[in-house]
Order: sequence, then structure tokens, then C-alpha cells
Amino acid sequence: MQSSEFYNSPSRMILGQGPSHLLMGPGPSNIHSAVQLILADPMVSHLDPIFLQMMDEIKDMLRQVFLTSNEMTFPVSGTGSAGMELCMVNLLEPGDAVVIGVNGLFGNRMCDMAERCGATVHRVDSPWGEIVPPARIRTAVETVRPKVVAVVHAETSTGVLTPVEEISRIAHDAGALLLVDVVTSLAGCPVKVDEWRIDAAYGATQKCLSCPPGLSPVTLGPAAMEAIRGRRTRVRSWYLDVNLLSSWWGKDRVYHHTAPISMNYALHQALKLVLEEGLETRWERHRRNHERLDAGLRAMGLDLVSQPGHRLWQLNSLGVPPDVDAGAVRRELCQRHGIEIGEGLGPLRHRIWRVGLMGETSKADNVDRFLECLKQVLGK
Ligand code: PLP
Repeated sequence: MQSSEFYNSPSRMILGQGPSHLLMGPGPSNIHSAVQLILADPMVSHLDPIFLQMMDEIKDMLRQVFLTSNEMTFPVSGTGSAGMELCMVNLLEPGDAVVIGVNGLFGNRMCDMAERCGATVHRVDSPWGEIVPPARIRTAVETVRPKVVAVVHAETSTGVLTPVEEISRIAHDAGALLLVDVVTSLAGCPVKVDEWRIDAAYGATQKCLSCPPGLSPVTLGPAAMEAIRGRRTRVRSWYLDVNLLSSWWGKDRVYHHTAPISMNYALHQALKLVLEEGLETRWERHRRNHERLDAGLRAMGLDLVSQPGHRLWQLNSLGVPPDVDAGAVRRELCQRHGIEIGEGLGPLRHRIWRVGLMGETSKADNVDRFLECLKQVLGK
């Protein structure tokens, strides 16, 4: 695109007025104006009593969103991958066995990280777009007797929701810890850390929490903390060592690193909005708008393609019709209509579009606008 075209397109960034994109991709999602505004608040130091109080409130609100009473619940400085890495480097030691369900990009990333920790990784692979059947996880767990079982709850690369409760029973029957990636599920559909007996989970701010990217909410339960405190070897990452971070995020307030102040302001505001709306109301809103999208697509002769019965509400895998150039449609939606959607990844490249309805983006008006623009672009 010529630069003059860019400046005339509805998708350009208007500095000082915020981006004009409707973010219907796999994240980041649109953010509420109250979150946008608080990013401009004056700076305080990370040791200012005001900031320390904010840390306590963030921890408390995160517990309400994770539905947990875990003391060690806090936002890691870094994106969702930092939360993933924190869980891996703290829970795993060289030689430990881990069973990982892989049905998309983020299960693969978990395996990569676990290998780098020196763990012996046992993958249970399933085709992208389907769940990893719990029965196959059970077989692997009963054979391997791993220290950790890890799964991605909401696979953003495929739009599939993993049945975590069933996998939790399997992991705990074998005495393993359960680690769950809730990056895309947190605040967009039920995530019940205590009820489902999840030992460790990590999220990200830029999906259904509707905050800019930059923090990764993490929660670690008593069994996970016991495993971490009882390690034979030192955690290989200084920055992500929970033993050190717990002194900073706990009562002692021992300086660890300079917290990203503005990002914590934004998360504080975003969490307040989530709790004001109410978790169940928010989940229901995500469900309703997914169904509105599904009905509108079917009326156009288009289909969602991830495994029926296991579809995410917040990330919809839309099949690309034969003879349609997936990339050209995405470009036109973005450049002409200011709507961003995601492309397919890995084996699903060119075969699906990923349509996100996360947090602030999940609104009936946005669904209708997307359907109308897609109809125009496809000439239907
Ligand atoms: N896990 C899942 C399910 C994700 O969707 C993502 C990012 O999209 C990540 C992990 C990694 O998060 P980040 O890109 O914020 O590092």
C-alpha cells in the first residue's frame, strides 16, 4: 500500500485519539475508554504506598476473576508467554516428566518451553481444530506418571475449548499437578480454578480482560507452591523465580524489579470493569454474541469449522469458502472497513479466518457490522 493510501484508510492510527480499528482478531481486543484514559495518569514509583495498595487490590480482583483463594495470584510483568514460561521454569526441573496436550500452536509452545527446562516431554497430539480426547491423556498419564499435566484451555490458533474438569480428574488421580493456559478463556467463559482443582494457570491482559498486552495474570495453588519450594535445583530464570517474586508480591515487599506502573493501572481499571459487569453476565454476553455471529454466518452460507460441541465463544474459526483468497479478504476488511480479523495458522493457514469476539469487542453491534462488511467483501 502507498503511504498516502494508508493515511486515507479507516484502519490508520490516529495519534491522540486512539486506533480506529475494530479488533476482531485473536487479540489484542478493543479496550474500554476508562482503561485507555488511565494509561495517561501521572507516574508514581513502584514503592509508593498508593502503588502498593493498588498491587493488593489487583491481587484481590484477580482472585475473584480466577475464582480462587490462592494467595500466590498476581500479574507477571510480561505478556502471556511470560506467564507460560514462569509456570514451566518453576514447576519443572531437569528430568521431570510432563504430559502436554497439543492441538494447536500454544500446546506446541508449551512443549518447547518444557524441553528448555530439561523436562522429558510426552506430547499427546490431536489434529488442529479438535480437542485432545481426555481418554488419550489418561493413557499417557497412566503410562508416564508425570509430575505435571499441561493443557491449553482455549486454543486461540484453532478456536477449540478443552474439557479441563475431566483432565483435572485424570491428572489428580495420578498424583500430578495440573497446569492450564487460560490466556484466551479468562473472563470470556467459565474458568474455575478452585472448583476444577487447577494447580497453576496463566492468562494475558489483551484478550477477554480487554486491557493492552503487557501483563500475565498467574495463579499458583498450594500444591504447586509446595512443589516449587521443595525443588532440588534453583529455578533457571532469575526474573521469573516465584520464590523471589513472592517476596515482592507478598507482604514483605522486597524490591524485585520495577513494575510496569501504567500497565498495572490499566489492569486495575479493566478488572474493576469485569467485576462490575459480573463474571457470569460477561460469560453470557460472550456466548450470546458467538451465537449471533454463528447464525449470521450460516445465513450467508458460511460455517464455523472447529469441533462442534467444543467451540470457543471468543475465538471463532470461520471456514474460507473454496476459490476465495483468504488474505485478500482480510486485507480488504482491514483497509476498507477498519476491521481486523486473524488468519489461519499452521495446517489451517488459508483454510480459516479467526474471528475474535473478546471482552469489549464482544458486542452485538460489532457482530452485525462485521457480517455486513464481510457480505460486501465477498460480494454476497
Ligand atoms: N497462549 C495462548 C492460548 C495464546 O492465545 C497466546 C497469545 O495469543 C499465548 C499463550 C501467548 O501470549 P502472548 O502473545 O501474550 O505472549
